[in-house]
Amino acid sequence: MNEEEIKQRLTDEEYRVLRQQGTEAPFSGAYVDNHEQGVYRCKVCGNELFSSDAKFDSGTGWPSFTDPAVAENVGTRADDSHGMSRTEVFCKHCGSHLGHVFDDGPKEAGGKRYCINSVCLAFEKE
Ligand SMILES: [Zn+2]
Repeated sequence: MNEEEIKQRLTDEEYRVLRQQGTEAPFSGAYVDNHEQGVYRCKVCGNELFSSDAKFDSGTGWPSFTDPAVAENVGTRADDSHGMSRTEVFCKHCGSHLGHVFDDGPKEAGGKRYCINSVCLAFEKE
């Protein structure tokens, strides 16, 4: 799948976030308050990224997870854009941007908060 094909499969907003490291507005996404059991896949390639088992209400306005569903499917890299030092989260299969990971997650679950844009995800109900 080349970049033009990816662009045609996505809405402008999805493309902006997934392929241009954008961020959706807080509390705007479809999955912020989704409490159904299932799997969250990459919107671009279908790679399994997160499970509802690891989802928690962070109050930030973005779907938040304590861990990836499949560790080797989810990559991280330093992101120093916008004058901030953050850790970007991306899909290892297609390279699409997903969000960022922070160290203020629930301590009993490892302390990580994967802050992910709803538009990057496709939910598959169990
Ligand atoms: Zn992907």
